[in-house]
Amino acid sequence: MGADPPGRADTALVHALDLGVFDVGAEPPKTLKSGMRVRPKWRAERTGTIGDIECFLPEVTMINPQAKLEYRLSGGRALRRYLEGISEGRIIGNRCPVCEAVIVPMKETCPRDGVPMAEEVELPDTGTVTTFAVNNIPDPRAPEVPFVSGYVLLDGAGVTLLTLIAGVPADQVRMGQRVRAAWKPREEWDASVGNIKWFEPIDEPDVPFDEIKDYL
Ligand SMILES: [Zn+2]
Repeated sequence: MGADPPGRADTALVHALDLGVFDVGAEPPKTLKSGMRVRPKWRAERTGTIGDIECFLPEVTMINPQAKLEYRLSGGRALRRYLEGISEGRIIGNRCPVCEAVIVPMKETCPRDGVPMAEEVELPDTGTVTTFAVNNIPDPRAPEVPFVSGYVLLDGAGVTLLTLIAGVPADQVRMGQRVRAAWKPREEWDASVGNIKWFEPIDEPDVPFDEIKDYL
C-alpha cells in the first residue's frame, strides 16, 4: 500500500457550486476558497451528457482514503494462443463466423459481432500501411528518433495492427506502402510480441487508397 495522491485533470471545468451545505447564513460565497475539494451532485435521471452533473458540492463530509491497489491481469486464452504462435514465428488470427473477418491478434469474440471465434487462421507476415504517425519523443522500443508508429493491415486480416515501421527514413513512410515483419534473430524469440521488432517496406507497388480506406 502506498500513498500516491489521486490523479488530476490537466485542465479546469467551469461549473456551478452549491454552497448550501455550509449553512452560514446570507453570504455563502465567503466560505469559498481556492483549492477547496468538491464532488459532483448527479441528477437522478441521467442522459450520458455533462448535464447529468447538476452542480458540485464542497467535500466537507467525505473522507478520501489514499490507497494504491495492484492488479495482475491475465491475458486470457486467445492472447496465450497468439503468443504461442508468435514464439514459433507464426501470426495467428481468428475468423469470425458472422462477418468472416480475420481478427488479429486473436480474440475470444469478434469485436464487431460479439460472437465467439473458434477458427484459427495463420496469416502471412506481410501487409499494408493504412495510417501512421511520425514521433519525435524517444521510446525504448523504437530504433531511433524520429520513429514511425503505424497501423498495418496484414494480408488476409480484417483489422489493423499497431506497430513500429522502420528500416526506412520516417519521411518515406506512406499510406498504402507494402511492408513485412522484421523478426528478431530466432535465438532471441520468446512468447512476446517483441519477437517482431517492427515492419519494414518491401519492394512491391503501393496498394490503392480505395482498398484500404475501410480500415483507417
Ligand atoms: Zn464478426
